[in-house]
Amino acid sequence: MRARREELLVSEKRPVGFVSLVGGGPGAPGLMTLHGRRAIERADVVLYDHLASPALIASLIVEGQERIHVGKTAGAGLHAQNAINELIVQRASRGERVVRLKGGDPCVFGRGGEEASACREAGIPFEIVPGVSSVSAAPAYAGIPVTHRDTNSGYTVVTGHEREDEDVQRVDWVELARGGRSIVILMGVLQAERWSGALLKGGLAGETPVAWIERATTVRQRTVVTTLAEVVASRDAEGVRAPAIAIVGDAVRWRDELAWYEERPLRGEVVATTRAISDDRGAFESLEDQGAVVLHLPLTCQRHLDNRLAEALADSTFTDLVLTSANGVRALSRALESADRDSRDLANVEIWVVGPGTARALRNSLGLRADHLPALHSAAGLVTHAQRLGVQGRRFLFPAAAAARRELPDGLSELGAQVNEIASYETVAEPTATARLESALAQGLTWVAIASPSAADVLADALEALGHPLDQLSVGAVGPTTAQRARERGLKVRAVAEPHTMDGLAATISSTLSTSLEEY
Ligand code: SAH
Repeated sequence: MRARREELLVSEKRPVGFVSLVGGGPGAPGLMTLHGRRAIERADVVLYDHLASPALIASLIVEGQERIHVGKTAGAGLHAQNAINELIVQRASRGERVVRLKGGDPCVFGRGGEEASACREAGIPFEIVPGVSSVSAAPAYAGIPVTHRDTNSGYTVVTGHEREDEDVQRVDWVELARGGRSIVILMGVLQAERWSGALLKGGLAGETPVAWIERATTVRQRTVVTTLAEVVASRDAEGVRAPAIAIVGDAVRWRDELAWYEERPLRGEVVATTRAISDDRGAFESLEDQGAVVLHLPLTCQRHLDNRLAEALADSTFTDLVLTSANGVRALSRALESADRDSRDLANVEIWVVGPGTARALRNSLGLRADHLPALHSAAGLVTHAQRLGVQGRRFLFPAAAAARRELPDGLSELGAQVNEIASYETVAEPTATARLESALAQGLTWVAIASPSAADVLADALEALGHPLDQLSVGAVGPTTAQRARERGLKVRAVAEPHTMDGLAATISSTLSTSLEEY
């Protein structure tokens, strides 16, 4: 009783908020720390600005979380920063967990120090979660090691944006010119005349190599190699724009040998997988290795239907169980749970499965091995197999999708079996599909991999809702039925999987892309 009363007292106290100043990395969603991700998952509110990667923000959807764009463009200055500090403090004072998400590392030209000071003054606990800074990420992705034993023993990071009227310590360009180190310049696009002039004046040779690296680690990364003398001319000729870093020094020459990111065959392709559970990732990793960005954009989700399956399991007069998808397995597992049973109740039941993915799900979620896994992964394959073995008089329980096709239950019935087909789940549009599609399009989405006719419908509906032309995206379909529906809806189907599995789809998309590259 005592402990209980103490608990009450604690919970009645005003909650204390918490602030995480999180480095989101330079752009690619994978370049963020696990600690930072976890902070976002736990946050009530995320405050981000234009430098925090849209890809990252889109990849981390947290239900019920508030996200505020605290846009601050270069030069917006003190006022905007004060407003952000105030907002951080105000939200945390309400007891909220606040993430202030910044591009790169929060304390590398990120004013993370000022935000931390504001928290300290207000007595709010905070943490600083470092991030992968563009300082090292941009050169790495351009194939330019910032240090190398053969060329340079160090590097210096400076801002290229200096204001005459500011009473701060100036960058000593003369000293930098003499240092023999690589110089990494952030925020240096607009004032390139100034810093390149200062370095030349400081004695650095006009032919010193310089690389502009723009939007590093994103699908739109671009590197322009030039010389110190030509830095301004190349910026103007190539239209280099922020965010970009410049790196000055002999290390740039390594790019001839080490460029990798911009050379990969599927560079620029952004491929979305769309099934509810992101277990397709493995299949699509080979595309990532070739330079494509793979996003998870769930278009459909499963809704479980009432408890009829649990009732059927409870009266257990069936001799056989047939499962045609991982969704069926999930429905079964839920029904067992709600009937207060477990997989031991299926000990004397023969289990028939369509497709290796279903078999895998069965093993993973219930620890059960399929008795029958016909080599042909389709309803027809299963019926043929059943015909060979004979199923006369057997009683099948079939947890099916609502409005599933008739082929399987009809086929088994014709062989003299009894089939108790129970509509156990239905596929519905994922509520966040349109919003996620919009952000995927903003990230340069080029391909969408779909695994069912309903996914084709949701994709077409969402594109229509966004007013985006349907035939601009390439669609990869898992099989002919899905492909047909996609075409009927006006989508451009460029790949139909062979074999009709997600692995097959990833491989088919990859080979379609490689072929079109060759044609190009
Ligand atoms: N905290 C950030 C830097 C913020 S200052 C970090 O650690 O990376 C903003 C400057 O960072 C930009 O002007 C640009 O010079 C650089 N920058 C940030 N992201 C970049 C990217 N993806 N590619 C190239 N430069 C980038």
